[in-house]
This record gives sequence, structure tokens and C-alpha cells, in this order.
Amino acid sequence: MDNTKEIIKNLKEKLFLKKQHGSYRMTDEQLADCDSFCEDYKKFMDVAKIEREAVNYSIDLLKKNGYVEYKKGMKLNPGDKIYRNNRGKAVLMAIVGTAPISDGVRLCAAHIDSPRLDLKQNPLYEDKEIALFKTHYYGGIKKYQWTAIPLALHGVICKADGTEVTVSIGEDENDPVFCVTDLLPHLANAQMSKPLAKGITGEQLNLLIGSRPFKDDEESGAVKLNIMNILFEKYGITEADFISSELEAVPAFKARDIGFDRSMIGAYGHDDKVCAYTALRATVDCENPVHTVVTVLTDKEETGSDGNTGLCSSYLEYFIHDIAEALGSDGRTVLSASECLSADVNAAFDPTFPEVNESNNCAYINKGVVITKYTGARGKSGTSDASAEFTGRIRRLMNANDVIWQTGELGKVDEGGGGTVAAYIANLDVDTIDLGVPVLSMHAPYEVVSKIDTYMAYKAFSAFVKD
Ligand code: MN
Ligand code: MN
Repeated sequence: MDNTKEIIKNLKEKLFLKKQHGSYRMTDEQLADCDSFCEDYKKFMDVAKIEREAVNYSIDLLKKNGYVEYKKGMKLNPGDKIYRNNRGKAVLMAIVGTAPISDGVRLCAAHIDSPRLDLKQNPLYEDKEIALFKTHYYGGIKKYQWTAIPLALHGVICKADGTEVTVSIGEDENDPVFCVTDLLPHLANAQMSKPLAKGITGEQLNLLIGSRPFKDDEESGAVKLNIMNILFEKYGITEADFISSELEAVPAFKARDIGFDRSMIGAYGHDDKVCAYTALRATVDCENPVHTVVTVLTDKEETGSDGNTGLCSSYLEYFIHDIAEALGSDGRTVLSASECLSADVNAAFDPTFPEVNESNNCAYINKGVVITKYTGARGKSGTSDASAEFTGRIRRLMNANDVIWQTGELGKVDEGGGGTVAAYIANLDVDTIDLGVPVLSMHAPYEVVSKIDTYMAYKAFSAFVKD
């Protein structure tokens, strides 16, 4: 009898897929490394709230590590480290490998834009002596989540004379912050009986920015005048300068540990800065790779990747073409031989909302980095669906490097879905698969990831770029 039990136990061990909390497979030393890596990640999250700031942070780090700005036509040799800044909103980086470039590149692609409220081009108005900014939300948000929380304002304003001002207000403890107001429950009968999606509308996402008039002037618009006067004194801007600005209202929260055990991190914008940071660090920490490594941190993923800083544009392709030609090959040969990890987050199982996931195929926090073979919606529509062969290759690579990983999908089959940049890169004839960190409350102003999964993303990208 005991013998049968033993046989069954051994057979299960041999034949069944194991899904285990990552900590059971990590030593105390590895967990300490993981926690210390996440301290660096939290610092990054506090200074890189928007894509422009993530680009600046990345370029500073790249320069410190010997990367130089690459212009088309520059000669390249193995070991060279280069980067290209795409309009301050996306960045490409590469380390030239020892293998011929015609063997392809190891490409990591993450995005550095996150859902937020963008100011409209004529945002400022006053109503009943209260000043507000009109906004147009960016990316997929649940609008009600963006009311009644402190918001900071980040971005740039291009003034009439062509000079540019950088704006970051609401992050320093002494800065003022802004907010979108919501109705008190006492008077919200009509609002509360609406479906959740309609409780707050896009045009109600108005940012509260002031309420004191200019001196004693009782002329209509005096509060607006006072705001404009403050902005003129601080930034030298007039109302017309908003037309050529990009100002983004983002949560004014700092990244913090979550839980008594400090096992998780709460922050704005884990999607997808958790993959951007881990891919960036893996690239910077990589020395003398065999294959040329290319990492791209892109903009515009949350609005569908269109525009010249999004991955539907040709900027990534042009960079690879330029590198290929500098190393004596051509772009299409290199692309066809390349492999890509589309580094993006996936939804983590949430015990409070189990009904949207199918438990055998969804991702869980702490079970490691999540490999997502396909995304899409309504019958895999819009996905690149990685091949069995490439999935197998990445699976072997993860196992060979002791990366704790799991598979995932974006919800039950008919539940909804979504996409990443994977399809756009796969469309360039590159073997591509999604790999990233599972997230709780994705696209909310405050998202949650686990430290173990974050660290495993770093380990996964590190294994890939040095392979
Ligand atoms: Mn994403
Ligand atoms: Mn997203």
C-alpha cells in the first residue's frame, strides 16, 4: 500500500505541471537580492511617471554605462553600446554582439506610457469662481477610479517663441496637487443607479486647479486670470501656449510596499514600466553578448501603438536596418532571424473577482514571470500567437536559467481580452512571444505587482539578452 502511494507520488512529480509559489524555489539570499532589486525599481517609479521621464531616466543610465547616441552611418563593432532617442518619448538601445548580425538580434520591447488624463488643447476655464482644466483620458480606464485622488501634472509646454518648459508639479511634498471631484453620496441617487461605466463620464473628468480671484477684481473670469497669472510668472506661458503642450495628470502617489510581509509593490504605471525597467536593467547589465541585443521602450501602446513614437510606426525597423547595414547585412535578413520578448504585463488572478479567469490558464502573483502565448479577443482576434516551436525555445531558456515562470491568458475565452505590441513586431517576421509581470488592478491609478515576479522578469530578460 505504501509502495503504491510512493509510485503515485513519483508519477505525479514526473508527469504533472507544477504551479508553485516562487518563494518555495528561492533561497533566502535570492529573496534578499529580489527585495533589493525592487528598492531600485520603486525609486525609478517615483521619477519616471510619464514616458518622457522614463526616456530621460533611461538615457542617463545608458550614458553612465558607456552607451553613445547612434546616428545612421556610424561604424559599429562587437561590444559597442548605442542608443537612439525617438522624439523624447521612446528610446532604443543596442549592444553589438560577437555573432554575425545576420544571425538576428535579441529584441526586448516594453512600453513606457500608462493610462492617465491628458489636458485638452484649450483646457482652462472658470465656472462659478472655480477654475478647472478639461481633460481627455488616455488609454483604457475605469473613469470613476480617477476621481477624488491626488493628481500631479507632468509634461511639456512649447511656447510661442519656440522655447520649451518642462512641467512636473505635485510630486514634491511641498507642491500643490490637483484632483477630479465626485458627487457626495447624499446627492448621488441618480449617479449611483447608473451602470459603473456611466457613473462618471469623460467630460466630467475635470481637474480642479484653483478658486481664488485675481486681487479684489470682481470682473468675471478673475479666478481664471489669477491662475493664468501664476502660470505666467512660473512658466512664462500664456493661454495660447496650451495648444502646443502635452500635459498629463497622473496619480501623485509614491511607490510603496504593500502588505505586512512587504511582498508586493503598489504604484502608478506598473503597466508597463515594470517590464520597461527590468528590460532596461537586464540590457545595461549585459556584457559582451553573443547576439546583438536591441531593447526598445516605446510610447503609445495604451492607445493602440499608432503615431511616430508607437510601435506601429517604422522607427524600430529603421533602427534595425541602420545597425544591419553598419555591420554589413541588411534589415530584412536581420529581422527574419531575430527573436523578440514582447515585455508586457498580464492580468493576475484576483481572489475577489475569480469569475473572469479560468483557473488552469490564468497567471497568479508570486508564481513568476508570465509567458503569454497569445492575447487577442473573440477567437484570438488581433494576436500574433507564438508558435509551439518558439514557445518551446523560450521555455527551455527559462528553465536553463532557473527563472521561475508560469503561463497566462487575458481572462476567460468570452470575457474580453486585449493586445500588446507583440503582433506588430511579429508582423516584421520576428519570432515573438509576450513575457511579463502579472498585475492586480491593472490600469487603475494604483496597480499592484509582486516583488518575486518583478525580479523574475529581470532574470528572464537577462537570460534572453545574454543567450
Ligand atoms: Mn501593457
Ligand atoms: Mn495596458
